[in-house]
Amino acid sequence: MKNAKRPMDAVAALPAQRHVTVIAQDPSVRANGPSGPILMAKIAVPAEDLIPGPIGYRVQVVDYDSTTRRFNGAHDLPESLKDEPPGWAKGDARLLTDFRFHAQNVYALVMKTLARFEFALGRRVGWSFHTHQLKVSPHGMLDANAFYSRREEGLVFGYFAGASGEPVYTCLSHDIVVHETTHALVDGLRERYLDPSSPDQAAFHEGFADVIAILSVFSQPEMVRMLLAPPTRKGGDAALIDRADVTAPALQQSALFGLAAQMGQEIQGSRGGPLRQSARLVATPQLLDSPEFQEPHRRGEVLVAAVLNGFINVWAARIQDLGVPGQQSYAVARVAEQGADIADTLATMWIRALDYMPPVHLEFGDALSAALTADTEVRPDDSRYDLREHMRKAFLTYGIAPPRSADAATGTWEHAPGGLNYDRVRFESMRSDKDEVFRFLWENRKDLEVELRKGAYTEVLSVRPCVRVGPDGFTLRETVAEYYQVARLTPAELERAGITVPKSYLVALAEARRAAAERQAKARERADDGDAPPAGADDGRDADDDESLATTPIYGGGVLIFDEYGRLKYHVHNDVFHARRQARRLKYLWETGQLEPGLRQARLQAGRLSTLHRLRALDARRVPAEGW
Ligand SMILES: [Zn+2]
Repeated sequence: MKNAKRPMDAVAALPAQRHVTVIAQDPSVRANGPSGPILMAKIAVPAEDLIPGPIGYRVQVVDYDSTTRRFNGAHDLPESLKDEPPGWAKGDARLLTDFRFHAQNVYALVMKTLARFEFALGRRVGWSFHTHQLKVSPHGMLDANAFYSRREEGLVFGYFAGASGEPVYTCLSHDIVVHETTHALVDGLRERYLDPSSPDQAAFHEGFADVIAILSVFSQPEMVRMLLAPPTRKGGDAALIDRADVTAPALQQSALFGLAAQMGQEIQGSRGGPLRQSARLVATPQLLDSPEFQEPHRRGEVLVAAVLNGFINVWAARIQDLGVPGQQSYAVARVAEQGADIADTLATMWIRALDYMPPVHLEFGDALSAALTADTEVRPDDSRYDLREHMRKAFLTYGIAPPRSADAATGTWEHAPGGLNYDRVRFESMRSDKDEVFRFLWENRKDLEVELRKGAYTEVLSVRPCVRVGPDGFTLRETVAEYYQVARLTPAELERAGITVPKSYLVALAEARRAAAERQAKARERADDGDAPPAGADDGRDADDDESLATTPIYGGGVLIFDEYGRLKYHVHNDVFHARRQARRLKYLWETGQLEPGLRQARLQAGRLSTLHRLRALDARRVPAEGW
């Protein structure tokens, strides 16, 4: 039947993208010296039918300030680039107090990051909560801070008085907006990464958010050009750059240190710090073993440093490849374009890596293997950049190597074992149905070495079909399924499974149980005397049965990557009964105060990113690793 109101060609004519002006990094980065206009960038975001707020299909900007309890109004954004006030693209300082521009800046960067993830993963990406729209407060509080909150289903950006007394708005910092959005996206993809686990996993959320934020800033040629040839430099804004200025150490000094110096100048301690620290981190393989780097934020900086050093090395090598032997200078614009292109390719590689990472207990080596594997699958020919080799080498200088279970030659995950049984599963259902995937696991549990009995509860968390696009339009169809396992073991069961735990923990577990039993007995006495009924001692069940019943939770799980024909390509998992890993994890959690013995079971303390960022603002480096 024909639709008279909207012919087919009108639908096809709707543009997929919209271009908007944003601040390239933050207002302190000026185009022509310190008093020049703010450096702006033009970015593409998915086109949509916006209503004032702005409110779109995935983002809802609510300009409410919880400190002053003031609503700053619903902002009606310009419909297109040509409708923007002329001062926006020019970087007129008046946009610093233009809240309509602030709303556009934050909306566009959140949408750009979301689109970046959806492109890399080849599918729609949801938030971790059950609504479609992420709430974003551009001026949410008077605080030198910004955070993602799962509970509040959104991002909150603070503002504060800067060194000059003028207000500083975190919603105007490119890296801060992308960093917080990345937390929200990673939380939607890997909900268990906020659970207490290992120092690496705690560090990963922060380090990864910084990696994506920094690569996002670097993927704007405007910004890279400015960093390479700042207007203040001798012979500034030159069209050419000397050969000596594009070696790896020189790029490290100019571009990387340049960006580090520019980022978050006003927001000392809270933001800008990570890159500044990372750019200076001297690579030694023992770094991660030192006590200072057990603290999650500090540890996250090592991940950032490894990725960025890999980036600089790829870039330097690529520039040398571009010229002819003996060439003494290069066009700045061309070098900047290369840098932006490599930053973009790397961002895609690392976002895709998320699908190949185990859903629980991530360690840095796993993240590296995941990135190498994801990239090999969609970009088999790496001869142009040698990205994977550079990445591996850079990680190795920080002592991060693929785990032993990975392929020794390439660092990628080993392929799934052959001879799996597909007879009893339906290919079509496997692309979307959790029960069907569980059936596949069940039928193949022996070959896949997944323990589905022995008291481990197993749940398939997600099944996601994706179409990933590589260079030259090469497409890769995959289905990614994620499962999760939990077992609660008594001290005797832990011992039988070979999982050794600290003696002091076992003593505390028994002690907590004894104290709870005492409370219960007292409550019962009071009840017998005619007082109020016992006010639930823990779960209200009798404590005086077998003492060994107090349990400790252990977690495991994996991802299954199927090819377009429904055959399993990779199975990346952390065995719930892996004695050595679990022992290490429990020891770490106990020693850092994150494992709390209770009457019936030990509990893990939940982490919150808003708390985490607040600590960081107060200089978390002086705070020992507690309740991350
Ligand atoms: Zn963060």
